[in-house]
Amino acid sequence: MKKLVNLFMLMALVAVSTQALAAPPADTLAAIKKSKVLVAGVKDSLPPFGYIDEKTRTIIGYDIDFINAIAAKLGAKVELKPVTSASRMPQLQEGNIDIIAATMTKNAERAKVIDFSHTYFFTGQKFITKKGTVKSLKDLEGKKIGTAKGSTSEQNVKKSIPTSTVLSFDDYPQAFLALQQGKVQAVTTDEAILAGILAKAPNKEQFEIPAVQISDEPYGLGMRKGDKNFVDFVNKTILEMEKSGEAKKIYDKWFGPNTQFHLQRNFKIVADK
Ligand code: GLU
Repeated sequence: MKKLVNLFMLMALVAVSTQALAAPPADTLAAIKKSKVLVAGVKDSLPPFGYIDEKTRTIIGYDIDFINAIAAKLGAKVELKPVTSASRMPQLQEGNIDIIAATMTKNAERAKVIDFSHTYFFTGQKFITKKGTVKSLKDLEGKKIGTAKGSTSEQNVKKSIPTSTVLSFDDYPQAFLALQQGKVQAVTTDEAILAGILAKAPNKEQFEIPAVQISDEPYGLGMRKGDKNFVDFVNKTILEMEKSGEAKKIYDKWFGPNTQFHLQRNFKIVADK
């Protein structure tokens, strides 16, 4: 019996290590057409982009709807894997996920490592603070500011307010908890994420998002560098979604007049590289 248990343990170990060693496919599009599964790295605690629906216990949101649309075009099922800002690029490169749909800004530095789709969401970096404490960037000088590890938010705030002390958490809800506990004086990231956090906060009337913006943040879906067929397919799909009105419908579902956000869509999905 003991030998049998050992054998099973060995088999499990081999299975785990071969999976870890498996190189990502050179042509993800062809691989998904064969496997009929699209594996996406998503956020699971950032409403309305990617968060756990209390009723169904599944991850839903703006990012997920784009993944669902792409998978539907491929006739593939969707598998969602939660990622953090810091883990999403390594997860993609290691082949644990096929695509990143996780509030991710496209920028030149990241584009050296992975490829991005056309922009499918547009926002800018702001702050959440206690009401009435911040009117301009000056009011944040020398302050402790919470954000997420591996994010553009972390980089931008260090540049914009060099005198601040930046505390980086795994994700933004933890940073907001630190603000509620008085351990930081502000939380910084993209306005659309901050609005989602604030909307869910039980004591939201104590906080605000001052009109202080430090960057533009265009979001792209991330794919492996040089995975050309897949990048082309994803770009074609999201351009079609723009044309058919589906992309706007998804925007309105999560941000439009029937939500807490009442946001106007100030962008269109275009072939922007
Ligand atoms: N969009 C920014 C970024 O890609 C901030 C949000 C995030 O950390 O996912 O880093």
